Amino acid sequence: MVSDLKQQVLIQRASSTGEMKRVLNSFHGTNIGFVPTMGYLHEGHMSLVEESLRTCDHTVVSIFVNPIQFGPNEDLDVYPYDLEGDIEKLESAGVDLLFQPHREIIYPEGFKTYVQVDEITDHLCGKSRPGLFKGVATVVLKLFNIVRPQHVFFGEKDWQQLAVIETLVRDLNLDIFVHRVPLVREPDGLAMSSRNRNLTSKERQKALSLSRSLEDAKEKISQGTTAASQLKQSIKDRITAESGMQIDYISICDPISLQEIEEVKGRTLIALAVKIGSSRLIDNCIVED
Ligand code: AMP
Repeated sequence: MVSDLKQQVLIQRASSTGEMKRVLNSFHGTNIGFVPTMGYLHEGHMSLVEESLRTCDHTVVSIFVNPIQFGPNEDLDVYPYDLEGDIEKLESAGVDLLFQPHREIIYPEGFKTYVQVDEITDHLCGKSRPGLFKGVATVVLKLFNIVRPQHVFFGEKDWQQLAVIETLVRDLNLDIFVHRVPLVREPDGLAMSSRNRNLTSKERQKALSLSRSLEDAKEKISQGTTAASQLKQSIKDRITAESGMQIDYISICDPISLQEIEEVKGRTLIALAVKIGSSRLIDNCIVED
């Protein structure tokens, strides 16, 4: 009944810190859940939103395509965008507030302060996209300071990003609870991503080799293969069996430190990034030996 009532309320929208303050004042004394996104929302994002709606009194979502986390030759200019569709989804879910700042609000002229999380950013995406996590950590801390949430929700789709946020929250004594939300897949196994929108139908088909190669690796581990080199080779073979696949990395590592391991022992993360045409996709899974 409560959620039915909530669905009739229009989402409030703010694009400046002043507007945010005004709306957030009306939430004073309640639990605020926050879901930062770059928009073009899909069911993966919505699972974070639903978790926040379940856990918190008020849910705030941000849509901000953060320019400083993109490298010079990356897809900032073609990042998919559908504000109307996003608002519709957030409104019917019952989200209370959408923060949708202009770039100048987040990075006004003279902006000079950045957040750097060391070591765990040396691996996986941090290695191949220098500056990515400095951009992510900086914007996330700024958003946390604007929204002042007690709970924040991040997806395991971006495993390393979650590790960076957890480290940031711990190291800077932020009084925030970080919720990990499982990766949501399409029915055929493809990890949901806003970037899937930019795939041609042929590329979409080829992209299935990412999740399938992870499934194969899981199967091999359950049959007793533990050598990371062997597992990586079979993942590579499965993906490059499709033409035009450019593997950025395949990592078999400790899920907390993200350090590469040689033998799968206990809980292990398998993570990969592959370029298909102009899109770079990531996927991961956790395995136990
Ligand atoms: P993005 O808009 O891609 O920056 O993602 C915003 C948040 O949604 C991040 O915490 C992501 O990890 C999460 N997310 C994106 N895709 C998925 C997915 N397929 N399953 C679960 N969470 C996701």
